[in-house]
Amino acid sequence: MSKASKDQRVKLYKDHNVQLLISKFMSGELSKLDPVYDRKYGYRYPVVDAIVGDPRKADELLQSLFEAGVLRRELYDKIVYCQFCDTANVSMHYCCPHCKSFDVRKSALIEHIKCGYIDTEEKFRKDDRLVCPRCRKELTKPDLDYHKAGVWCTCNECGKSFDIPVAAHFCRDCHRNFTFEEALYKDVYSYDLTPEALKEATLGWILITPIREFLESRGFEVESPGFLKGKSGASHMFDITASPAGVERNLTVIDLATSTDQIASEQPVIAMFAKIYDVSPDRACLIAIPRMSDNGKKLAALYKINLVEAKNPKEAIEAFEKVCIKK
Ligand SMILES: [Zn+2]
Ligand SMILES: [Zn+2]
Ligand SMILES: [Zn+2]
Repeated sequence: MSKASKDQRVKLYKDHNVQLLISKFMSGELSKLDPVYDRKYGYRYPVVDAIVGDPRKADELLQSLFEAGVLRRELYDKIVYCQFCDTANVSMHYCCPHCKSFDVRKSALIEHIKCGYIDTEEKFRKDDRLVCPRCRKELTKPDLDYHKAGVWCTCNECGKSFDIPVAAHFCRDCHRNFTFEEALYKDVYSYDLTPEALKEATLGWILITPIREFLESRGFEVESPGFLKGKSGASHMFDITASPAGVERNLTVIDLATSTDQIASEQPVIAMFAKIYDVSPDRACLIAIPRMSDNGKKLAALYKINLVEAKNPKEAIEAFEKVCIKK
């Protein structure tokens, strides 16, 4: 997976709606996001609709999560929409290729194996028995006496017969007909988390929650994610912001630098520096999981960012307490 999509994912993880959706996968409430059929709108994802509020935004969100590699998808169904009114309340017509009428009678073709006679099932029907119109023998055993040799259609409009009908559609809402060529024909997917996103979310989730709880137990007021306005007027987001309850300033900002490789790059150090330069918190702490590159360490020292390296939540809290609280 490319670096660009990793960056895209990191951006998406900071979106509250994305956090809500991922938390449903993490908690096991969702193992797979399957679409649910809706007569008017076609397929919907009620879980996502409930999170974002607007069905159109739900589709956009799923698309961006797929493109960034947070979600992977599997083709679930294909759906036809009316080209005139956009509804999915559309029926399928099998039409006569000669006159295009959908008033078509479908029959099964039967072959009498012994004499080789082939005709439609109606021609063989004598009350509730099947009798060969050519040799008058009764057919009783399927596959032994006779077999189905396909379908045969007859048009009630023009009287012609054919074996392959032409597909067309009828909109049950606006009552117009349209051909397959004119129809909007869309893919419908079911989704689940990619292994990368699962790993990244696990790292973030298992770390942010304990750090947050630890800070709260120490009397801090905590926001996660926390948004702060800088001197420039721009708003910046940190994974966690904390300040002692009831105190105006004394602000600590915390970012997580997670890496699916062994060592986090200096990129999150630089990104954090740009934000703290604007926001001027009292303390900045970057938690690298599991380790920070040497360049990153040098830059963190230069930028006065407290660096914590940790493999798990316990380590992170211990180191974090030493570096950021007891000072
Ligand atoms: Zn329509
Ligand atoms: Zn016809
Ligand atoms: Zn026969």
